[in-house]
Amino acid sequence: MPHERNVGLVFDDRFLTHNTGIDLIGDVTPYPFAEPIAHVSSPALVGRAKHLMDLFGVSDRMQRIAAAPASDEQLSAYHTLDFIARVTQIAQTDGGDTGAGAPIGRGGDRVARLAAGGTIAATDAVMTGRADAAYALVRPPGHHAMADQGMGFCVFNNAVVAARQAQRIHGAERVLILDWDVHHGNGTQAAFWSDPSVLFISLHQDDLYPAGWGAADQVGIDAGEGFTVNIPLPAGSGNMAYAAAFSRIVAPIARQFDPDLVIVSAGQDASVFDPLARMSLTLAGYQAMTETMMAIAGECCDGRLVITQEGGYAPQYAPYCSATIAQTLVGLVPDEVPIPDPYGERAANQPASNEIGLDAEQAIERAASVLGTYWST
Ligand SMILES: [Zn+2]
Repeated sequence: MPHERNVGLVFDDRFLTHNTGIDLIGDVTPYPFAEPIAHVSSPALVGRAKHLMDLFGVSDRMQRIAAAPASDEQLSAYHTLDFIARVTQIAQTDGGDTGAGAPIGRGGDRVARLAAGGTIAATDAVMTGRADAAYALVRPPGHHAMADQGMGFCVFNNAVVAARQAQRIHGAERVLILDWDVHHGNGTQAAFWSDPSVLFISLHQDDLYPAGWGAADQVGIDAGEGFTVNIPLPAGSGNMAYAAAFSRIVAPIARQFDPDLVIVSAGQDASVFDPLARMSLTLAGYQAMTETMMAIAGECCDGRLVITQEGGYAPQYAPYCSATIAQTLVGLVPDEVPIPDPYGERAANQPASNEIGLDAEQAIERAASVLGTYWST
Protein backbone atom coordinates (compact mmCIF):
# COMPACT_ATOMS: atom_id res chain seq x y z
CA MET A 1 0.00 0.00 0.00
CA PRO A 2 1.42 3.41 -0.85
CA HIS A 3 2.44 5.28 2.25
CA GLU A 4 0.83 8.69 2.55
CA ARG A 5 3.43 11.31 3.38
CA ASN A 6 3.10 12.71 6.84
CA VAL A 7 4.70 16.14 6.93
CA GLY A 8 5.00 18.10 10.15
CA LEU A 9 4.67 21.86 10.60
CA VAL A 10 6.08 23.82 13.49
CA PHE A 11 4.54 27.25 13.78
CA ASP A 12 3.69 29.28 16.84
CA ASP A 13 2.14 32.74 16.99
CA ARG A 14 4.70 33.59 19.64
CA PHE A 15 7.35 33.62 16.87
CA LEU A 16 5.65 36.81 15.67
CA THR A 17 6.27 38.52 19.00
CA HIS A 18 10.05 38.50 18.44
CA ASN A 19 10.62 42.23 18.32
CA THR A 20 13.51 43.45 16.16
CA GLY A 21 12.45 47.08 16.60
CA ILE A 22 13.40 49.76 14.14
CA ASP A 23 16.41 49.59 11.89
CA LEU A 24 19.24 51.44 13.58
CA ILE A 25 22.13 50.37 11.30
CA GLY A 26 24.68 50.23 14.07
CA ASP A 27 22.85 52.82 16.16
CA VAL A 28 24.92 55.66 14.74
CA THR A 29 24.35 59.29 15.52
CA PRO A 30 23.14 61.38 13.80
CA TYR A 31 20.20 59.17 13.03
CA PRO A 32 20.71 57.67 9.56
CA PHE A 33 17.18 57.86 8.17
CA ALA A 34 14.73 60.70 7.75
CA GLU A 35 11.98 58.58 9.27
CA PRO A 36 12.33 55.41 11.33
CA ILE A 37 12.25 52.29 9.17
CA ALA A 38 11.03 48.96 10.50
CA HIS A 39 13.76 46.36 10.91
CA VAL A 40 13.99 44.23 7.78
CA SER A 41 13.61 40.98 9.75
CA SER A 42 9.95 41.67 10.36
CA PRO A 43 7.34 39.35 11.89
CA ALA A 44 5.17 39.78 8.78
CA LEU A 45 7.49 37.60 6.66
CA VAL A 46 6.97 34.42 8.64
CA GLY A 47 3.37 35.36 9.44
CA ARG A 48 2.53 35.76 5.74
CA ALA A 49 4.25 32.50 4.89
CA LYS A 50 1.99 30.72 7.38
CA HIS A 51 -1.11 32.51 6.10
CA LEU A 52 -0.27 31.61 2.49
CA MET A 53 0.14 27.99 3.57
CA ASP A 54 -3.35 28.28 5.10
CA LEU A 55 -4.88 30.01 2.07
CA PHE A 56 -3.47 27.49 -0.39
CA GLY A 57 -4.61 24.56 1.76
CA VAL A 58 -1.06 23.39 2.49
CA SER A 59 -1.03 23.64 6.29
CA ASP A 60 -4.31 21.68 6.43
CA ARG A 61 -2.41 18.72 5.12
CA MET A 62 0.44 19.07 7.60
CA GLN A 63 0.61 17.63 11.08
CA ARG A 64 1.07 20.33 13.69
CA ILE A 65 4.11 19.85 15.88
CA ALA A 66 4.23 21.90 19.07
CA ALA A 67 7.36 23.89 19.82
CA ALA A 68 8.74 23.87 23.36
CA PRO A 69 11.46 26.29 24.48
CA ALA A 70 14.95 24.80 24.12
CA SER A 71 16.57 24.04 27.46
CA ASP A 72 20.00 25.28 28.59
CA GLU A 73 21.24 21.76 28.03
CA GLN A 74 19.97 21.69 24.45
CA LEU A 75 21.32 25.16 23.65
CA SER A 76 24.69 24.44 25.26
CA ALA A 77 25.24 21.67 22.73
CA TYR A 78 26.65 24.69 20.86
CA HIS A 79 26.28 27.90 22.83
CA THR A 80 28.29 28.94 25.87
CA LEU A 81 26.40 29.21 29.15
CA ASP A 82 27.69 32.79 29.45
CA PHE A 83 26.04 33.73 26.17
CA ILE A 84 22.77 31.98 27.06
CA ALA A 85 22.71 33.90 30.37
CA ARG A 86 23.48 37.16 28.55
CA VAL A 87 20.49 36.68 26.23
CA THR A 88 18.24 36.15 29.26
CA GLN A 89 19.66 39.27 30.84
CA ILE A 90 19.11 41.45 27.76
CA ALA A 91 15.53 40.17 27.51
CA GLN A 92 14.83 41.45 31.02
CA THR A 93 15.54 44.99 29.85
CA ASP A 94 13.75 46.79 27.04
CA GLY A 95 15.90 44.76 24.67
CA GLY A 96 19.20 45.11 22.89
CA ASP A 97 21.73 43.42 20.68
CA THR A 98 22.69 39.86 21.59
CA GLY A 99 25.93 40.22 19.63
CA ALA A 100 26.56 41.63 16.19
CA GLY A 101 23.24 42.79 14.77
CA ALA A 102 20.89 40.33 16.45
CA PRO A 103 18.42 42.44 18.41
CA ILE A 104 15.75 41.10 20.74
CA GLY A 105 13.05 42.91 22.64
CA ARG A 106 11.81 42.42 26.19
CA GLY A 107 11.13 38.72 26.68
CA GLY A 108 12.91 37.91 23.42
CA ASP A 109 14.94 35.14 25.07
CA ARG A 110 11.78 33.04 25.29
CA VAL A 111 11.02 33.45 21.60
CA ALA A 112 14.60 32.63 20.61
CA ARG A 113 14.45 29.51 22.79
CA LEU A 114 11.14 28.62 21.17
CA ALA A 115 12.66 28.92 17.67
CA ALA A 116 15.53 26.59 18.61
CA GLY A 117 13.07 24.31 20.41
CA GLY A 118 10.79 24.34 17.37
CA THR A 119 13.55 23.09 15.10
CA ILE A 120 14.43 20.49 17.75
CA ALA A 121 10.76 19.41 17.93
CA ALA A 122 10.68 18.99 14.14
CA THR A 123 13.86 16.90 14.39
CA ASP A 124 12.39 14.76 17.20
CA ALA A 125 9.28 14.10 15.09
CA VAL A 126 11.29 13.11 12.03
CA MET A 127 13.84 11.00 13.92
CA THR A 128 11.15 9.06 15.80
CA GLY A 129 9.07 8.54 12.65
CA ARG A 130 6.10 10.58 13.90
CA ALA A 131 6.60 12.63 10.75
CA ASP A 132 8.34 11.73 7.49
CA ALA A 133 9.58 15.28 7.07
CA ALA A 134 8.89 18.61 8.75
CA TYR A 135 9.00 22.35 8.17
CA ALA A 136 10.00 24.44 11.17
CA LEU A 137 8.63 27.87 10.26
CA VAL A 138 10.42 29.55 13.14
CA ARG A 139 11.66 33.00 14.05
CA PRO A 140 14.27 34.35 14.87
CA PRO A 141 16.51 32.55 12.36
CA GLY A 142 19.73 30.83 13.41
CA HIS A 143 22.52 30.21 10.93
CA HIS A 144 24.69 33.26 11.69
CA ALA A 145 24.60 32.69 15.46
CA MET A 146 28.00 31.77 16.88
CA ALA A 147 28.72 29.83 20.08
CA ASP A 148 29.18 32.98 22.13
CA GLN A 149 27.16 35.65 20.36
CA GLY A 150 24.12 36.36 18.22
CA MET A 151 24.78 37.73 14.76
CA GLY A 152 22.93 38.87 11.64
CA PHE A 153 19.38 38.71 13.11
CA CYS A 154 20.13 35.21 14.54
CA VAL A 155 20.18 34.58 18.29
CA PHE A 156 20.55 30.82 18.80
CA ASN A 157 21.69 28.51 16.02
CA ASN A 158 18.53 26.47 15.45
CA ALA A 159 20.02 24.09 12.86
CA VAL A 160 23.12 23.35 14.93
CA VAL A 161 21.30 22.50 18.15
CA ALA A 162 18.80 20.38 16.15
CA ALA A 163 21.65 18.43 14.52
CA ARG A 164 23.18 17.81 17.94
CA GLN A 165 19.78 16.67 19.24
CA ALA A 166 19.57 14.14 16.40
CA GLN A 167 23.02 12.83 17.29
CA ARG A 168 22.78 12.85 21.08
CA ILE A 169 19.19 11.76 21.63
CA HIS A 170 18.35 9.82 18.49
CA GLY A 171 21.69 8.24 17.64
CA ALA A 172 22.13 9.80 14.21
CA GLU A 173 25.75 9.32 13.18
CA ARG A 174 25.89 11.60 10.17
CA VAL A 175 23.83 14.75 9.64
CA LEU A 176 23.81 16.82 6.47
CA ILE A 177 23.00 20.52 6.86
CA LEU A 178 22.33 22.16 3.51
CA ASP A 179 22.13 25.94 3.76
CA TRP A 180 20.60 27.75 0.78
CA ASP A 181 20.13 31.08 2.53
CA VAL A 182 21.77 33.71 0.33
CA HIS A 183 24.10 34.67 3.16
CA HIS A 184 26.81 32.36 4.41
CA GLY A 185 25.90 30.16 7.39
CA ASN A 186 29.00 31.12 9.35
CA GLY A 187 27.64 30.01 12.73
CA THR A 188 26.89 26.55 11.42
CA GLN A 189 30.23 26.30 9.63
CA ALA A 190 32.06 27.27 12.83
CA ALA A 191 30.12 24.66 14.84
CA PHE A 192 31.28 21.75 12.70
CA TRP A 193 34.59 23.07 11.35
CA SER A 194 36.60 20.12 12.64
CA ASP A 195 33.71 17.63 12.89
CA PRO A 196 33.30 14.98 10.19
CA SER A 197 29.95 13.79 11.60
CA VAL A 198 28.13 16.83 10.18
CA LEU A 199 28.50 17.72 6.52
CA PHE A 200 27.79 21.42 6.07
CA ILE A 201 27.04 22.61 2.54
CA SER A 202 26.36 26.29 1.90
CA LEU A 203 25.25 27.95 -1.31
CA HIS A 204 25.37 31.73 -1.03
CA GLN A 205 26.06 34.95 -2.86
CA ASP A 206 29.82 35.30 -3.05
CA ASP A 207 31.26 37.36 -0.19
CA LEU A 208 27.97 39.03 0.72
CA TYR A 209 27.66 38.54 4.48
CA PRO A 210 29.47 38.02 6.74
CA ALA A 211 32.61 39.38 5.07
CA GLY A 212 35.38 36.83 4.64
CA TRP A 213 33.19 33.78 5.18
CA GLY A 214 32.20 31.10 2.67
CA ALA A 215 34.99 31.00 0.10
CA ALA A 216 35.29 27.70 -1.75
CA ASP A 217 38.63 26.94 -0.15
CA GLN A 218 37.09 26.96 3.34
CA VAL A 219 36.72 23.20 3.71
CA GLY A 220 37.17 22.50 7.44
CA ILE A 221 40.21 21.39 9.40
CA ASP A 222 41.65 18.24 11.01
CA ALA A 223 39.15 15.38 11.00
CA GLY A 224 36.57 17.78 9.56
CA GLU A 225 38.60 18.64 6.47
CA GLY A 226 36.38 18.17 3.42
CA PHE A 227 33.17 18.15 5.49
CA THR A 228 32.57 21.85 4.97
CA VAL A 229 31.43 22.56 1.42
CA ASN A 230 31.16 26.15 0.25
CA ILE A 231 29.64 27.06 -3.09
CA PRO A 232 29.85 30.84 -3.49
CA LEU A 233 27.83 32.00 -6.50
CA PRO A 234 28.04 35.34 -8.27
CA ALA A 235 25.29 37.94 -7.94
CA GLY A 236 22.55 37.36 -10.49
CA SER A 237 22.58 33.57 -10.20
CA GLY A 238 19.10 32.07 -10.61
CA ASN A 239 17.24 28.80 -11.06
CA MET A 240 19.62 27.40 -13.69
CA ALA A 241 22.82 28.18 -11.80
CA TYR A 242 21.44 26.73 -8.57
CA ALA A 243 20.22 23.62 -10.42
CA ALA A 244 23.72 23.17 -11.88
CA ALA A 245 25.34 23.57 -8.44
CA PHE A 246 22.92 21.01 -6.97
CA SER A 247 23.49 18.42 -9.67
CA ARG A 248 27.25 19.01 -10.05
CA ILE A 249 28.22 19.32 -6.35
CA VAL A 250 25.43 19.03 -3.76
CA ALA A 251 23.78 15.78 -4.83
CA PRO A 252 26.93 13.71 -5.50
CA ILE A 253 28.65 14.78 -2.27
CA ALA A 254 25.48 14.32 -0.19
CA ARG A 255 25.04 10.79 -1.55
CA GLN A 256 28.65 9.89 -0.79
CA PHE A 257 28.25 11.23 2.75
CA ASP A 258 25.06 9.16 3.17
CA PRO A 259 23.42 11.10 6.04
CA ASP A 260 21.03 9.71 8.66
CA LEU A 261 19.16 13.04 8.65
CA VAL A 262 19.02 16.01 6.30
CA ILE A 263 18.45 19.50 7.70
CA VAL A 264 17.91 22.41 5.32
CA SER A 265 18.65 25.94 6.53
CA ALA A 266 16.07 27.50 4.25
CA GLY A 267 16.50 31.22 3.76
CA GLN A 268 14.36 32.54 0.96
CA ASP A 269 16.56 35.61 0.44
CA ALA A 270 18.12 34.38 -2.80
CA SER A 271 14.81 35.32 -4.43
CA VAL A 272 14.69 37.75 -7.31
CA PHE A 273 12.95 40.39 -5.17
CA ASP A 274 15.07 40.28 -2.04
CA PRO A 275 16.23 43.69 -0.80
CA LEU A 276 19.32 42.27 0.96
CA ALA A 277 20.88 40.31 -1.89
CA ARG A 278 21.19 40.16 -5.65
CA MET A 279 20.18 36.67 -6.67
CA SER A 280 17.35 35.68 -9.01
CA LEU A 281 15.62 32.53 -7.73
CA THR A 282 11.90 32.18 -8.38
CA LEU A 283 9.27 29.85 -6.91
CA ALA A 284 10.27 27.18 -9.43
CA GLY A 285 13.85 27.37 -8.17
CA TYR A 286 12.78 26.82 -4.57
CA GLN A 287 10.54 23.97 -5.66
CA ALA A 288 13.42 22.32 -7.53
CA MET A 289 15.84 22.66 -4.61
CA THR A 290 13.24 21.19 -2.24
CA GLU A 291 12.65 18.26 -4.60
CA THR A 292 16.37 17.58 -4.81
CA MET A 293 16.74 17.54 -1.03
CA MET A 294 13.69 15.27 -0.73
CA ALA A 295 15.25 12.89 -3.25
CA ILE A 296 18.58 12.86 -1.40
CA ALA A 297 16.83 12.23 1.93
CA GLY A 298 14.73 9.54 0.25
CA GLU A 299 17.79 7.73 -1.03
CA CYS A 300 19.94 8.06 2.07
CA CYS A 301 17.72 8.11 5.16
CA ASP A 302 14.10 7.08 4.53
CA GLY A 303 13.25 10.66 3.59
CA ARG A 304 14.13 12.15 6.99
CA LEU A 305 14.20 15.86 6.20
CA VAL A 306 13.84 18.90 8.45
CA ILE A 307 13.51 22.30 6.85
CA THR A 308 14.13 25.20 9.18
CA GLN A 309 13.39 28.81 8.33
CA GLU A 310 16.30 31.24 8.01
CA GLY A 311 16.12 34.58 6.15
CA GLY A 312 14.00 35.94 3.29
CA TYR A 313 13.11 39.64 3.21
CA ALA A 314 11.02 40.39 0.14
CA PRO A 315 7.70 41.19 1.84
CA GLN A 316 5.49 39.92 -0.98
CA TYR A 317 7.68 37.29 -2.53
CA ALA A 318 9.65 35.48 0.20
CA PRO A 319 6.47 34.16 1.89
CA TYR A 320 5.39 32.68 -1.46
CA CYS A 321 8.76 30.93 -1.71
CA SER A 322 8.30 29.45 1.78
CA ALA A 323 4.73 28.34 1.03
CA THR A 324 5.97 26.71 -2.17
CA ILE A 325 8.61 24.77 -0.24
CA ALA A 326 5.90 23.51 2.13
CA GLN A 327 3.61 22.60 -0.77
CA THR A 328 6.45 20.69 -2.43
CA LEU A 329 7.11 18.83 0.82
CA VAL A 330 3.51 17.66 1.21
CA GLY A 331 3.03 17.04 -2.53
CA LEU A 332 0.06 17.96 -4.68
CA VAL A 333 -3.27 16.18 -4.39
CA PRO A 334 -4.99 15.26 -7.71
CA ASP A 335 -6.18 18.34 -9.61
CA GLU A 336 -4.25 20.65 -7.30
CA VAL A 337 -2.00 23.14 -9.07
CA PRO A 338 1.27 24.52 -7.78
CA ILE A 339 1.08 27.88 -6.00
CA PRO A 340 1.22 30.46 -8.82
CA ASP A 341 4.29 32.65 -9.03
CA PRO A 342 3.25 36.27 -8.29
CA TYR A 343 6.03 37.35 -10.69
CA GLY A 344 3.87 35.87 -13.47
CA GLU A 345 5.35 34.79 -16.79
CA ARG A 346 8.44 36.84 -16.16
CA ALA A 347 9.51 34.28 -13.53
CA ALA A 348 10.07 31.67 -16.21
CA ASN A 349 11.27 34.08 -18.89
CA GLN A 350 13.90 36.05 -17.02
CA PRO A 351 17.42 35.14 -18.21
CA ALA A 352 18.58 33.65 -14.89
CA SER A 353 15.76 31.11 -15.08
CA ASN A 354 17.10 29.79 -18.39
CA GLU A 355 20.83 30.44 -18.42
CA ILE A 356 23.61 29.53 -16.04
CA GLY A 357 25.88 32.45 -16.91
CA LEU A 358 29.57 32.08 -17.57
CA ASP A 359 30.65 33.51 -14.20
CA ALA A 360 28.37 31.12 -12.32
CA GLU A 361 29.60 28.21 -14.38
CA GLN A 362 33.17 29.12 -13.51
CA ALA A 363 32.33 29.50 -9.82
CA ILE A 364 30.71 26.05 -9.74
CA GLU A 365 33.68 24.47 -11.52
CA ARG A 366 36.09 26.16 -9.14
CA ALA A 367 34.21 24.84 -6.09
CA ALA A 368 33.95 21.37 -7.65
CA SER A 369 37.68 21.27 -8.29
CA VAL A 370 38.49 22.28 -4.66
CA LEU A 371 36.12 19.57 -3.39
CA GLY A 372 37.49 16.99 -5.80
CA THR A 373 40.28 16.41 -3.26
CA TYR A 374 37.74 14.94 -0.86
CA TRP A 375 34.82 13.70 -2.94
CA SER A 376 34.23 12.42 -6.42
CA THR A 377 32.56 15.35 -8.15
ZN1 LIG B 1 20.11 35.37 4.81
